[in-house]
Amino acid sequence: MEPAKRYEQIVYETAAPNVARIVMNRPEKLNAQGMVMTYEIDAAFKRACNDPSVHVIILAGAGKHFNAGHDLSFDGPAAPDEADKVGLWGPFEGEGWEGSYAREKEIYLDITERWRNAPKPTIAEVQGAVVAGGNMLVWACDLIICSEDARFRDNTASEMGVPGVEFFQHPYELGTRKAKEWLFTGDWLTAREAERRGMVNHVVSTDQLTKITLELAAKIAANNPFAMRLAKEAINRGQDLMGRKHAMDAAFSLHQIGHLQNMLVNGFPIDISRLHAPVREALEAAVASGKYGKGTGA
Ligand code: ZN
Repeated sequence: MEPAKRYEQIVYETAAPNVARIVMNRPEKLNAQGMVMTYEIDAAFKRACNDPSVHVIILAGAGKHFNAGHDLSFDGPAAPDEADKVGLWGPFEGEGWEGSYAREKEIYLDITERWRNAPKPTIAEVQGAVVAGGNMLVWACDLIICSEDARFRDNTASEMGVPGVEFFQHPYELGTRKAKEWLFTGDWLTAREAERRGMVNHVVSTDQLTKITLELAAKIAANNPFAMRLAKEAINRGQDLMGRKHAMDAAFSLHQIGHLQNMLVNGFPIDISRLHAPVREALEAAVASGKYGKGTGA
């Protein structure tokens, strides 16, 4: 077991016997995922997976909203400590698109896939808004419990000039027709519609969300933990044999073409012209200050 670690942007707790609960704890930023949070979540998954006493992992978000997506304020470090990196694609700085490719591949595609393949059952506990990259965190989990007020949106195609978020699991979550409509329009998907489509397991009342998620986690945690791991692996392998990973890798390449098109047309990696004014202005300021652009992706 890894020694207890201090976290800045998450809380790691034992929520019930044999249940670890990772809470994204940046409610003032709607739990937006930047470099610090990404690697703290990764460290928490690593800790939970290497702790034999942990049988089930919950991923939750503090505050009214589960997650607003990737942190486009670009506050904080631009890269993790070298020792924390999990991939081999090299530095996040590099000529042309090289550094951005390495960055996006590691922190959005490969690290999310790594959490998806964490060998213990995982449950997303979801409330309020889930926007763009926030969906990646939800989809990485095996089971999804959400409150009645949960709602999901990926506005990266409709407003940002890329085909969808980097971890492109949309068709496997919603079916192809709904996935296309959802991306083409950028509309919100309600909790009930997500349940109807099979994207979430259960919709529960907001004040019962944590309690019901914990009860489900405790029920699974009481079962043979190795059998749970094998069951997860069997289903994940089946899904991958249906083409999920190859399709996602192809979509990631298309996502990079979207970024490059925006670089050629606009000079930075996303089209900001359709974003609502406060976000657009924040991004323009980030570009002007040099925080956003080459090497920072989206
Ligand atoms: Zn991107």
